Amino acid sequence: MNEGFLIAVCGPSGVGKGTINSLLLKRNPNLKMSISATTRAPRINETDGKEYYFVDPAEFESLIATGQLLEWAVVHDTYYGTPLVPVQEMLAAGYDVLLEIDVQGALQVKSNFPNAILIFLTAPNLRELERRLRDRGTETEAQIARRQKTTAWEMTMIDKFDYVIMNEVVEDTYQAVLNAIITAKEKYSQNPGGQQNC
Ligand code: 5GP
Repeated sequence: MNEGFLIAVCGPSGVGKGTINSLLLKRNPNLKMSISATTRAPRINETDGKEYYFVDPAEFESLIATGQLLEWAVVHDTYYGTPLVPVQEMLAAGYDVLLEIDVQGALQVKSNFPNAILIFLTAPNLRELERRLRDRGTETEAQIARRQKTTAWEMTMIDKFDYVIMNEVVEDTYQAVLNAIITAKEKYSQNPGGQQNC
């Protein structure tokens, strides 16, 4: 059986990563989502073990110290990381694994796994993103301001991504992301050593 691919979908808060990833997962049974660990508090509609594993900082630091994370980063003063073993198991079983992670994490993944497919979703303009984030209603004004700073930095990193896709019409974006994944898999299948670090 061929090993699956790591696929990271990144992009600023409010850009619609969740929507696109849900469609990808619903329509592509060969794709599985990695569940990250984080030290942030659950939002009202989130359940431990579903959207995230919610852990305290000491637990997270122990995951780092014992090499149990594929990648990790501090995003908005909070730890986020991808548990290694579940990802290894899914890849070995032939599934492609979707990582909804920040840009720092995606760059770590790419440097360790050159065949990882990095996709950056962007929006027509940053004001539009701010509006989407406000509409979501899960962040305070201070948190929105901090996320905007992160967005500005992330936008400077987009040339490191395999694909940059504008999210305007969800269905078009979905198709563009799917095509990008298919194209990259064909390309990287000719270089199977690129997943060997996992
Ligand atoms: P949120 O708190 O809105 O769920 O996520 C905040 C940011 O953390 C988003 O950019 C999200 O993609 C990123 N993130 C979520 N999980 C991980 C992870 O496991 N690793 C890294 N590096 N970033 C993550």
